[in-house]
Amino acid sequence: MTTSRIRQLRQRLRVDGLNAFLVTVPENVRYLTGFTGSNGLAILTQTSAAFLTDSRYVLQSAKEVRGFRRLITARGLLEEAAQKRLLKGSRTVGFESHGVTYAQYRRLRVLFPGVSFRPTADLVEEIALVKDRQEIALLTRAAAIADAVFGDLLPSITAGMTELDVAAEISWLNRKHGAERDAFDTIVASGPRGALPHARPTSRKIRNGEFVTIDFGSTLQGYNSDLTRTVALGRVPPRLRTAYRAVQEAQQAAVQAARAGMRASDLDAVARRCIASYKLGKYFVHSLGHGLGLRIHERPRVSELSREVLRSGSVITIEPGVYIPGVGGVRIEDDVVLRDDGCRLLTSSPRELLTV
Ligand code: ZN
Ligand code: ZN
Repeated sequence: MTTSRIRQLRQRLRVDGLNAFLVTVPENVRYLTGFTGSNGLAILTQTSAAFLTDSRYVLQSAKEVRGFRRLITARGLLEEAAQKRLLKGSRTVGFESHGVTYAQYRRLRVLFPGVSFRPTADLVEEIALVKDRQEIALLTRAAAIADAVFGDLLPSITAGMTELDVAAEISWLNRKHGAERDAFDTIVASGPRGALPHARPTSRKIRNGEFVTIDFGSTLQGYNSDLTRTVALGRVPPRLRTAYRAVQEAQQAAVQAARAGMRASDLDAVARRCIASYKLGKYFVHSLGHGLGLRIHERPRVSELSREVLRSGSVITIEPGVYIPGVGGVRIEDDVVLRDDGCRLLTSSPRELLTV
């Protein structure tokens, strides 16, 4: 598994004319080496693969890291790389422009005076775009945990509970169902707060006659799920019910349309058209979805402006929403794996309007 990733990255380095590559973004270090700790550096050349970490991770790295020579150091990782001359003979070296601070960049220039450092974007991310079988299996399980959490949560939602109560319940249920953590800070938005797509839970009490939008995920061995459902407490006003119908229809249409080979922007348009047909188009204020993997938001972007073509083996979310200021909001989100002939849903919680 890591060998195929290393092979693909080496090929890319050849194409880009890079003699060596520094990997510092933690998710990318993990993707390539298997290391799950917080302080790791991978250095790849055409003939060598080195992994550096500090002495806190002696045992852990021995267990996790595959395909890389391990170096444990008490020094800084870059200093150790210089000391061990790991970039010897490399004239042009790529680094991840989104994973190196300016201070680290200056340090690189001092430690490796003869080397020309070149910023790169998304070299590893590009490879990680297409998930292998093991990754799909983990994403499927992470999605199943989110479904189980939602299933347990639903009967416990009652008027009078605060948004924070709901978020706390989700954290507890996540652990109970085997997630290592919440995939991100849970969003709970009730009543008019539903108009905020990324509302943080507050001490506001949920009331009868309103919607509550719940967006959360479960992490399993680093892989994430991302699920949103909007539920009604008692009978909600007709305007919100219509918004729900529009979002549900848009979500279903997008799930039915999604397949590898189509432009991400075309998939976004499927949902957007549907919501516009309800005259709610101006209230769908974000993109349709995003890639999902070791990160909660990764490529491909599924938006109006995205230039990406969807690829078989990518896992994306499909999450249209309607947010009416002063009134409330609706979002329905599922995770799917893309194939040439369509997509497979990973999350399966009910999508029809649930009233508690
Ligand atoms: Zn979400
Ligand atoms: Zn999402």
